[in-house]
Amino acid sequence: MSGQKQQYNFNKLQKRLRRHVGQAISDFNMIEDGDRIMVCLSGGKDSYTLLDILMNLKASAPIHFDLVAVNLDQKQPGFPEHVLPGYLEELGVEYLIVNEDTYSIVKEKVPEGKTTCSLCSRLRRGILYRTATELKCTKVALGHHRDDILETLLLNMFYGGKLKAMPPKLVSDDGKHMVIRPLAYCREKDIIKYSEAKGFPIIPCNLCGSQPNLQRQVIKEMLQNWDRQFPGRIETMFKALQNVVPSHLADSELFDFKGLSRDNALGLEGDTAFDRESFSNPVPEDEEDEGPTIDPALTLAIKAL
Ligand code: SF4
Repeated sequence: MSGQKQQYNFNKLQKRLRRHVGQAISDFNMIEDGDRIMVCLSGGKDSYTLLDILMNLKASAPIHFDLVAVNLDQKQPGFPEHVLPGYLEELGVEYLIVNEDTYSIVKEKVPEGKTTCSLCSRLRRGILYRTATELKCTKVALGHHRDDILETLLLNMFYGGKLKAMPPKLVSDDGKHMVIRPLAYCREKDIIKYSEAKGFPIIPCNLCGSQPNLQRQVIKEMLQNWDRQFPGRIETMFKALQNVVPSHLADSELFDFKGLSRDNALGLEGDTAFDRESFSNPVPEDEEDEGPTIDPALTLAIKAL
């Protein structure tokens, strides 16, 4: 591929990621004027992309917000501690490396052969929230993307008996922190390509020696296969998360089925008691008309008004 073509493709990819992040920020009111956002940086492709795109948007946003990159060095054996400081210094972003030996705690507390991730992530969460308070950050940004959200949805359905995914914005259990996921609309395959093109200094995520979560792995592969075999299905699944019809599910906490009567049923999604629903084929995002390109900074400008 010629250099010109490569640059063209990269620009298109970057524009798409910026557009998706800008849209998610706007749809969920993730960033407001004056926010100080702690960007959690693990050293993986997702968090590098998150920081990069947020810095990119900040440069052209008409509102003011600050970014602080935070990495938690959990003292896993072989963690290359020079990589992130070197990268962040060069970037010129405010940053903090937090050193906490959660690795030893996890090894000590979790019996050999048992999975360590649940204790490890609980410890990490506590440290990161504490750091956000110390840094006086108003929001905590995480690098989860659309595929993470769909994987979580299916994991909860298949193994947890819940219709529950991963929210683009949430308040921590203690009510003190606002967590945002600005990559919520971004596709993992775009993030992989972007990360490769940018040459981020990726730190491997298996340094702790923990086995990958097999259930998540199976769901991930299933979604990837669907994406190959049925283009557009993943996009449609994600749209479904934004188009919930409580009256056509079966949760009586969510919809008052007991109180439903002929007098108050008007305006619900229609009577499908006897009909078979029919659907047209979904359109994969690459083939969608992306329409005129709107600078994502504009969506932030709307917030500033
Ligand atoms: S994979 Fe390792 S570092 Fe990651 S959550 Fe699990 S135990 Fe912690």
